[in-house]
Amino acid sequence: MKNKPILVTQPFLPPLEEFQEYLKEIWDSKWLTNNGKFHQELEKALCEYLGVKYISLFSNGTLALITALQELKITGEVITTPFSFVATTHALWWNNIKPVFVDIESKTMNLDPEKIEAAITPKTTAIMPVHVYGNPCNIDAIQKIAKTYGLKVIYDAAHAFGVKKNNISILNYGDLSILSFHATKVFHTFEGGAIVCHDELTKNRIDNLKNFGFENGEVVSPGINAKMNELQAAMGLLQLKYIDTAILKRKEIAETYIRELKNINGISVIDDIADVRHSYSYFPILIDKEEFGKTRDEVFNELAAHQIHGRKYFYPLISQFPTYKGLDSARPGLMPIAEKIAEEVLCLPIFPDIGFEIIQKICKIIKENKQ
Ligand SMILES: *Cc1c(COP(=O)(O)O)cnc(C)c1O
Repeated sequence: MKNKPILVTQPFLPPLEEFQEYLKEIWDSKWLTNNGKFHQELEKALCEYLGVKYISLFSNGTLALITALQELKITGEVITTPFSFVATTHALWWNNIKPVFVDIESKTMNLDPEKIEAAITPKTTAIMPVHVYGNPCNIDAIQKIAKTYGLKVIYDAAHAFGVKKNNISILNYGDLSILSFHATKVFHTFEGGAIVCHDELTKNRIDNLKNFGFENGEVVSPGINAKMNELQAAMGLLQLKYIDTAILKRKEIAETYIRELKNINGISVIDDIADVRHSYSYFPILIDKEEFGKTRDEVFNELAAHQIHGRKYFYPLISQFPTYKGLDSARPGLMPIAEKIAEEVLCLPIFPDIGFEIIQKICKIIKENKQ
């Protein structure tokens, strides 16, 4: 057991007996999907927990992103960040929308509002920012630009479960926000996702779109099948029971990392932001090779040699993948901050049951590598 590899994350699983209770109920009712009992319960419970008005559950986050763009009938060009998981841009491509990449801010690693305006063209219809690592985007500045130019805002909030600013869920901003409940996320339903919206009519249309476009037996839109099933919803209900404890444990782990690594020359950590309730979904550090004396890749390899597997997240940038590197906005040199951060970033393992001795070991290896 001692030398089991430590991965960047490990899904939280509730006691198996508790899941079996739900399974028994599903077996008895024989209702497996299509807005079942647990699906309805989870939507209600999530609205309450997250502090949002309307939520539609999905089979995964990527289909939620794709459907959100359908719901708002987004076309043409959409301004987005290259510093994200590739699904953000894939969702645009699957809707025949041209992604336009814009550089990020160095402090939050989120889309830089000051660089958005220069990228707007007559074809621009929306902005799709990401709350990277759960750190809120500059919501006010983005909203102001969207209002001035008549653009929609769709937040990829896949990392931002439970994140609040001034005690308000950041999912309440923009036209729509998308969550992912993938196994690697803070809150998971094996696979899963959701769209958060602000009015009932929009929620109804999204519910139609995820179920083949059905509304009372009639097909009213060109829908897809992206429904969450009852097993997923049951897992979600159980996760909710433990989520506050899980986030608290993550917070303690993040605080330990910060304490240990903050004063090392060449290592930067992101401190908590005032007035933000974080969910500590990731723990990224930046390694400046001049100051630290070793590259990110060297530190990554050194940790891997000790069976500790961080993740170069996000490297390469989405704009550097062969699929997207031919786009005008993907040209090397256009996004210097994102390009630099992608070379320096390393996400260290963080999950509720990692154990403090592992954190100490990781910090020790990093310190011993300093030149
Ligand atoms: C996980 C993730 C997604 C995709 O969600 P899935 O549920 O895996 O489809 C999209 N965007 C970001 C930023 C993610 O981290």
